[in-house]
Amino acid sequence: MTSTFKTFLKHTAKDFHNQSVNPPVVRASTIIFKSMQDIRKTQSKFRKNPIGGHFDYGRQGTSTTYILQKILTKLEESYHVFLTPTGFGAIFLAIFSLVRPGDEIIVADPSYKPTRRLTQDFLKDFNIKTIFYNPSDLNTLRKNISKNTKLIFVENPGSNTFDFQDLSKIIQIAKKHKIYTAIDNTWGTPYFLKPIKLGFDMSIVSATKYYSGHSDVMGGSLAVNKRVFRKVQLADNVTGLRLGPDDAYLITRGLRTLDVRLDKHQDNAKKVAAFFI
Ligand SMILES: *Cc1c(COP(=O)(O)O)cnc(C)c1O
Repeated sequence: MTSTFKTFLKHTAKDFHNQSVNPPVVRASTIIFKSMQDIRKTQSKFRKNPIGGHFDYGRQGTSTTYILQKILTKLEESYHVFLTPTGFGAIFLAIFSLVRPGDEIIVADPSYKPTRRLTQDFLKDFNIKTIFYNPSDLNTLRKNISKNTKLIFVENPGSNTFDFQDLSKIIQIAKKHKIYTAIDNTWGTPYFLKPIKLGFDMSIVSATKYYSGHSDVMGGSLAVNKRVFRKVQLADNVTGLRLGPDDAYLITRGLRTLDVRLDKHQDNAKKVAAFFI
């Protein structure tokens, strides 16, 4: 991580908001415009630039959530970041955006338990088939690809076993077969691993964990590339998965110390690993 980026994390609000060091919490539902023309102008700006922070109703966000989106978009080096009320909400949004009845998805075997419940049990009722692959044997992924495979859903490292996977290889396989890819990057966070740069279409982080850092807020982020942006935007529009501004504020505050905390976690983890070796 470059020192420029570490500085950026400390001065996030200053970059996007000129006055206060921390961004203010802006709460809103209905937004008042001076005239119909003004509303139309905002709506037209939104259509032209849907990631530009032009809102005409609180469900789309406020300046507080917009600041967090901008910070995370930079951290992820992605096209855009969608915010959700929980990390699992981001997983749901990723799958809901791309997968339709008749499709198949291939999921990493050691995935987070609710991800397994959603894919293995719940999606079955919607005629969506899930196959699990063994992260240490990517042949189990390759041989399960069919003409109906829509999405490869990776979790790395896997929650239950902490397997590290050959992510470049997975991207290579997916691109060859024109299959979408998503990764749950909650453990690594884009501080250590930048999935969109690696070639993933979507990258999920539970903001509840390292972003917040203080166990007092829940949230999720879904970073996307340009290829899937429109599909996720359409799905986001009909789910009502909105992150509240108070939660966004706490997550933004937590992000200021993300580098310090993760560097320390890394040092400690290395010491524990050295002890066992
Ligand atoms: C906690 C967690 C989630 C879900 O996040 P919530 O914010 O609790 O909904 C998803 N994936 C992983 C790997 C997690 O650890």
